This record gives sequence, C-alpha cells and structure tokens, in this order.
Amino acid sequence: MKVGVLGLQGAFVEHVTILERLNVKAIIVKTKEALEEVDALIIPGGESSVMGKFMKKEGLDQIIIEKVKQGMPIWGTCAGLILLAKDVHNNPSYLNLMDISVQRNAYGRQLGSFVIEEKFAEQKIPMVFIRGPIITKVSDHVEILSVVQNEIVAARQNNILATSFHPELTSDASVHEYFIKMCQSV
Ligand code: GLN
Repeated sequence: MKVGVLGLQGAFVEHVTILERLNVKAIIVKTKEALEEVDALIIPGGESSVMGKFMKKEGLDQIIIEKVKQGMPIWGTCAGLILLAKDVHNNPSYLNLMDISVQRNAYGRQLGSFVIEEKFAEQKIPMVFIRGPIITKVSDHVEILSVVQNEIVAARQNNILATSFHPELTSDASVHEYFIKMCQSV
C-alpha cells in the first residue's frame, strides 16, 4: 500500500515522517501523476482556501473526488477536514465529499491554538489544535470519533476520516495507525 500526502501547502512533511516510522510507504503528492499512484490520501493542515485554490489549479480536485467515490481512503486534518466537508459556514465548500457542516477558525484567532488530552475512538491521545475547525452537524452516515469541550472534532464516514486537530505534530501515532487499519479494511 502506498499512502499519498497532498503536498501543495501546509504540514505535509510531518505526516510522511510518521507514516515512514510506521513502515508505510508514503509519497508527497503534488501532481495528477503522483495522485494516480497512491492507494490512499492524506490532506494536511494549512490554509484551506489556499490549498483549495491550488488543488483546483492543478486539476487534482476532480481526481480526488472520483477516487474517493470509488472507495479510496482519505483523511483530512484541520484544513483538510474543511476541504472534505459538504458545508462550510459562510465559506465555499470544496470537495463536497463528507456529510458534515464545519465552522472554520472555530476557536477564534487569538486563542485558537491549544493542546489537550482527549479521547479519539475510545483512546486518550494528545491533540494539537491550531486555529482549527469544529464539526457542527453530521448526517446519520457519519460516526463521531472525538468530542472535545462539547464540540465534534473527529469523525468518519466509510472511507473518509476527518480530524480538526493535528496528530502529525505529536509523537503519538494512534490516529495514523487508525487510518492505516481503516485503509486495510475498506
Ligand atoms: N484555519 C485554517 C483554515 O481555515 C486551518 C488551520 C490548520 O489547518 N491548522 O483553513
């Protein structure tokens, strides 16, 4: 299995480092050709509006949509989560793949970054939030995996995983391990 990490902008190198630590083959995806090579994709944190624009410009958005609809596992962290959502409050949506509504910069700009230990799929892990979004609404097809301070911050819909926080910025690999297992089971 080869996992791609979208490398147009943001914190993509950190994902590659953790995947390699888990002995998973990982490549940085910047082109259509690279995208065609991978079995799964991670969209990292960064700035969703910028990443969304680059994705369109490179023609990657349509291929991602097609591949995910055919079952390719995908995981969006932070800005990546925003790009996956079907509805983004007061902002355009991008890939329209996941049945969730999200609010960008939900923790405000000044106090937007913090670290907390909370449960992800029943396991307590460190979570790093950096001007992260929250999930304000999910459909019946979506499984909620983390709730922090009464807000949904991780969820899954079949082959789609989304986290508001940044597991790639901690030394805990639990969410990456969860994603790899998910890739092997869908
Ligand atoms: N605030 C960013 C956005 O709206 C996301 C921040 C992040 O990915 N760390 O796209």
